[in-house]
Formats: sequence, structure tokens, C-alpha cells
Amino acid sequence: MIYLKTREEIELMRESALMVSRTLAIIAREVKPGVEPANLDKLAEEFIRDNGGVPAFKGYGHKSNPFPATLCISINDAVVHGIPTKKPLIEGDIISVDCGVKKNGYYGDHAYTFAVGEIKPELQKLIDVTKESLYLGIEQMVSGNRVGDISFAIQQHAEKNGFGVVRELVGHGLGKNLHEEPEVPNYGKRGDGPKLKEGMVLAIEPMINFGTKNIKQLKDGWTIITADGKPSAHFEHDVAIVDGKPEILSSYAIIEEALASVN
Ligand code: MG
Ligand code: MG
Repeated sequence: MIYLKTREEIELMRESALMVSRTLAIIAREVKPGVEPANLDKLAEEFIRDNGGVPAFKGYGHKSNPFPATLCISINDAVVHGIPTKKPLIEGDIISVDCGVKKNGYYGDHAYTFAVGEIKPELQKLIDVTKESLYLGIEQMVSGNRVGDISFAIQQHAEKNGFGVVRELVGHGLGKNLHEEPEVPNYGKRGDGPKLKEGMVLAIEPMINFGTKNIKQLKDGWTIITADGKPSAHFEHDVAIVDGKPEILSSYAIIEEALASVN
């Protein structure tokens, strides 16, 4: 069942999405060589709780192995769902930071991939293409199109640049639940899948690998890594259909202003 949101609900969701953006902006200021990801996680949790939100990922999953942190921090060959550790970041790493927040009963869930210091040009290209593919997907999120139009646009751009598109993990509907219908794959055919309608809110999140599309999971039960050990990037926005057109509820401007202020 796909839940369509009212304008009022979309405004509440914007608040949750922007709380995630502000959290990621704090992280943007701190990402540098020598920093421990676990400390970034602490900063994020404090900020969210101080502002009346609840970290959405902490405790998520089966009770035998709930996710232990506020942020998913996935470094280099980690695709998504990385657990923040005390192992310091190194110059040249790329780190994907994904954050979920619940506020006023609604979820925000978005992500950004950061460079640690100077990175190789090919890694910058992976980051750029992944972000571009997200925006090309979002452009397709208009009333009357179908989910497959989003998927197709993302896959085309990533593969045209020689990168691998992860199949097993997908974007999703968002609302009173962190994961709602429909699924939003990052690969697919034009005209396939559920029809896009006014009031839909989707978390669109390309996970793009430098090499093979194949992935595996670490024994921690969470971290997803590339099967060939090559790096991966991840960007995610929360997007609503308002007046038939995509309206991005989360904000990279907030994050990129923070990046510009320290670089
Ligand atoms: Mg996410
Ligand atoms: Mg998500």
C-alpha cells in the first residue's frame, strides 16, 4: 500500500528531512584525516536529540542484532550500512554518511558521500556521477511517470560512465515508516512499476560502485561491501510530488555551505 501525503504531512516531513541535512552539515565540517567515525556519530546523535528528534537507525532491525549507531558510515569499499568505528579516517578515503531522523511522527532519511582530504580524480568522478544520477532520477519524479522512469535514468547515467549499479538495495517510500512502498530500484525499465502520484514521498538513493555491481555483507550483519573491493558512493534525497512535480525536501545546499566554510 502506497500512502500519499497531504500538504501538511509533507511540511512535517520537510522538517525531518532538513534535520538530517543539518546533521550532515555538522559532519561535513568535521570530516578530515585523523577523525574517528565513532566521534562523528556522537555529534550527530547529540544534535538530533537536542533538537527534539530521535535517531531512526539506532536500534533498527532485528532485536538479536539491532543497528548500534545514529549514522551509517561506509568507507571506501563499504557501500552502505557501515557501523561507525574508532579507526581514524585517512587522507584519500571517501565516506558515505547516511542518517535517519524521526520527528513529529515522520521520518527523514538522506545521505551524502564526502571526500577525506585530497582524493584521486577517479574517486571524485564516482562521487560526481552518483550525485548526478540522483538528480536525473529526481527529474523523472513527476505525476503520471512510473517508478521505472526514475530507475532507468539512474542506471543509464551510472553505466554510461562505466560504473556498477547495486541491485540488492533500493530506495523506498518514506513517511510514518522509515521504509514504505514502493521500492525504488536504481536500475530498471522506462514505464515499469507503480505510477507516480501527487503526494508520494520517496527516498531515492543510488548506490554506485566503481567496479562490479556485486556486493556482500560482512559478518557484523550490517556492513555491505563491494565484492571486488573497489570503492562505492551513495547519495540520497527525500522527494515529494507537489503540483505534479518533484520537490526535494532535504537539502544539499546546507551541507555544501558547511563544506565550503571549512575548505
Ligand atoms: Mg538512508
Ligand atoms: Mg533510505
